[in-house]
Amino acid sequence: MGIKVAKFGGSSLSDATHFRKVKAIIESDPDYHYVVPSAPGKRFGEDTKVTDMLYQCYRLVERNKSHEEVFRRIAERYLEIAHELDIALDQDFDFIGLLNETSDAIRRHNSPDFAASRGEYLNGVLLARYLGWDFVDAQEVVKFDRQGSFASEWTNEIMRTKLAEHERAVVPGFYGSFPDGEVHTFSRGGSDISGAIVSRAVEADMYVNWTDVNGFLMADPRIVDNPRCIRELTYSELRELSYMGATVLHEDAIFPVHKAGIPTNIRNTNDPADPGTMIVPQMTANRPDMAITGVAGHKNFTLITIDKAMMNAELGFGRRVLSALEDFGVSFEHMPSGIDTLSVVISDKDLVTRKDQIIQRIQQLCQPDSIEVSGGIALIATVGHGMVRTPGTAAKLFTALYQAGVNIRMIDQGSSEMNIIVGVNVEDFETAMNAIYRAFVKD
Ligand code: ASP
Repeated sequence: MGIKVAKFGGSSLSDATHFRKVKAIIESDPDYHYVVPSAPGKRFGEDTKVTDMLYQCYRLVERNKSHEEVFRRIAERYLEIAHELDIALDQDFDFIGLLNETSDAIRRHNSPDFAASRGEYLNGVLLARYLGWDFVDAQEVVKFDRQGSFASEWTNEIMRTKLAEHERAVVPGFYGSFPDGEVHTFSRGGSDISGAIVSRAVEADMYVNWTDVNGFLMADPRIVDNPRCIRELTYSELRELSYMGATVLHEDAIFPVHKAGIPTNIRNTNDPADPGTMIVPQMTANRPDMAITGVAGHKNFTLITIDKAMMNAELGFGRRVLSALEDFGVSFEHMPSGIDTLSVVISDKDLVTRKDQIIQRIQQLCQPDSIEVSGGIALIATVGHGMVRTPGTAAKLFTALYQAGVNIRMIDQGSSEMNIIVGVNVEDFETAMNAIYRAFVKD
């Protein structure tokens, strides 16, 4: 017996059919003690998420217009779910009264966060009723400081104490409150964070994040045809892959559970038999015999290469290069270096208007022999703890790129040996991703 926390995303709670699936999942495992729901998401491609409709309500209120018509459509979605699930709406469960109050409160509060939070709030109330569980309002147990930063230790203390009073409870995702009690939300997709926070507070054995995909894929399916699902990855590997653009989880959802050593299991509500992806603090023996965990990449980087004879003997050279960037508020992504060269890789979005000034500043501070600027670089990270143990990983990767005719512009291997990052010309991005994936995964 352990404790599991289940978070269900918006598409997993979009209609009554999905509510039934959620109930079946929860009832199939008595270890589930806490459920964190999102607001109802899209039921079909052209549908609108309840959260988006709530933001629309706020915008109408803000402009002194009536939000009632939009709110009526929101209310209908909840009522349809209640009706199809045969949830009696009577004095004992006055959900219609609550919908009316909510509509008034959205007008009164005139706040985007309050309006948006009502999607999770109402879904939480309804789901708690359907499961026969307690409802704990996130406004009471998730705290932000006055500046709007999440107050993790304060929250942990309040949440731990409060949830100890409830054996099984539904805690809506996405929002909490400022010290004065006014509602504040996380950024979009923030229910993932709420689930992680609840998991930490109850010292869960596992955080199960139920969504609409079978887990993390080894590569972006828009680039690589039919990539395999990753069965296990560590939080550090996840960080590397998400940094490079792979997304399934909100990135702030990693910290609370990673810190507490709690594994996160990504599962598909529509395919509950599939084990999904397990994200673990440390690599286990359950890994398939494969050197890499995944490959991910990003376009739009610029490489600035600075050459100066005897650079290695010049004290403070690297610091001066970086201070030139710092002077313009620009951070660097990577810094591969040679004997007499040092390169910095910078994201184009940070460089836009400041490129010429930065080059000038480097000239001034470092007096280099030459500076070369190459735009149109794409970075590809090949990630995996297994790479350290497997000889020939780098040879395989570079051979694959050579055979695919891809010119490598930059190489950076972190000393953790958990990844090898290569920079290639943007036109070669797709070819390179496929070549690397196919070199390691044989179907
Ligand atoms: N409902 C919110 C959103 O659409 C939060 C979430 O689903 O996690 O962003």
